Amino acid sequence: MSSSFSVSQERKLVTALPGPRSIALQERRVRAVSAGAGTLANIYMDHGAGAILVDVDGNQIIDLGCGIGVTTIGHAHPEVAAAAAAQAGKLTHTLFTVTPYENYVRVAEKLAEITPGDFEKHSILVNTGAEAVENAVKIARKYTGRRAIVSLDHAFHGRTNLTMAMTYRPWPERVGMGPFPGEIYSVPTSYPYQDGLSGEEAAEKTIDYIQTHIGASEIAAFFVEPIQGDGGIVIPAPGYFKRLSEFCTENGIVFVSDEIQAGIARTGAWYGIEHHGVVPDLVTTAKGIAGGFPLAAVTGRAEIMDAVQPGGIGGTFGGNPVSTAAALAVFDIIERDNLIDEAKRVEKALWARIGDWADKFDIVGDVRGKGAMFGVELVHPGTKKPFPEALAFVLKHATTNGVIALDAGSWDSVLRIMPSVVISEALIDDAASVLEEAFTLFQAAQQ
Ligand SMILES: *Cc1c(COP(=O)(O)O)cnc(C)c1O
Repeated sequence: MSSSFSVSQERKLVTALPGPRSIALQERRVRAVSAGAGTLANIYMDHGAGAILVDVDGNQIIDLGCGIGVTTIGHAHPEVAAAAAAQAGKLTHTLFTVTPYENYVRVAEKLAEITPGDFEKHSILVNTGAEAVENAVKIARKYTGRRAIVSLDHAFHGRTNLTMAMTYRPWPERVGMGPFPGEIYSVPTSYPYQDGLSGEEAAEKTIDYIQTHIGASEIAAFFVEPIQGDGGIVIPAPGYFKRLSEFCTENGIVFVSDEIQAGIARTGAWYGIEHHGVVPDLVTTAKGIAGGFPLAAVTGRAEIMDAVQPGGIGGTFGGNPVSTAAALAVFDIIERDNLIDEAKRVEKALWARIGDWADKFDIVGDVRGKGAMFGVELVHPGTKKPFPEALAFVLKHATTNGVIALDAGSWDSVLRIMPSVVISEALIDDAASVLEEAFTLFQAAQQ
């Protein structure tokens, strides 16, 4: 593991947050950028290394978000930068479906190796997570000759028209932006903290809903996230996915694990579904795959991936030479530096530091997570009722004190903690202290 970073791994504030340069940029921004691109914290960043971001005023900020799980290997990794720069000076574009190049093939070979399952696997490379999900829908429909698509309650699958329809909550992702495509169904999931059901019980509920509302024989694909990210770090009860994947196999349904947030080492495995002992037919990969460069993929059983007619899937920038060069560097770094084990180290450190928060703070209902992907569900004391005002307070306190954490959950009540897997125990401790201060202040103000 690289022990020396170009920025010291410590929180250091030299101005109030946001600082004067951030405030000046924010004034320009509101005159030029759509208000629809809302921001968590208007702190403008200049550079970063490891788990630290440095803003335009020189403040060093602990990043517990990674731009939603993207910079898993740390910010601006020098080897990724070098690989991308070298490729940018050599060849930046041909369009793979006009004249191909090796990087694309190498990424597909690597994806076949690291995704679950021993069968022959093929991939298509695209630019964004939503585009990967859309392509998985197209491929599953072509393969099965069926139309219906199923996703789970609390799911997040993207912001294009089709993937918005597969995304659970209306606000803010969908409201006012329909009409949406038909044949998309949201079905009950397993949410152990809120529903108290075992994996088997929750799966029976899901399957019963499908049989009574849709009909299994109508369904082309069933999409799950192994850990729901935007939905609030919801980890289904043990056995849930196993039963669902059996149900899909029995009924000729393509089982798709959307690994866009949980994949690529984040949970202490290459892919999150591995923790459930399930082998999906297709997986979608994006966010963490290329250290911040835009790249995404659909990978899965060769016979499914090859069901599409030549020219049926593709896109101008998909599998761009520079993005694929970055991804190849990311794969090398994860293996050489044992970053899957580093994610397990982060999990241990987080449990040790924040695992008792539900006992210590009345507004914390549940702490859950895997690897470097944790959620803290905030509730009205003594109940399981979501407490979004508490989360808003905590995030505001954190950002003004130099800690970036994320919101999540269908009720905006889950604090999402997704640091780089290279974050130190000292930074976890410092960031946790800032969050604890926020809980204490909020609880005191409630008295
Ligand atoms: C972020 C995300 C997407 C969408 O990816 P984009 O690159 O933002 O289009 C889809 N599915 C999951 C699980 C995600 O976390």
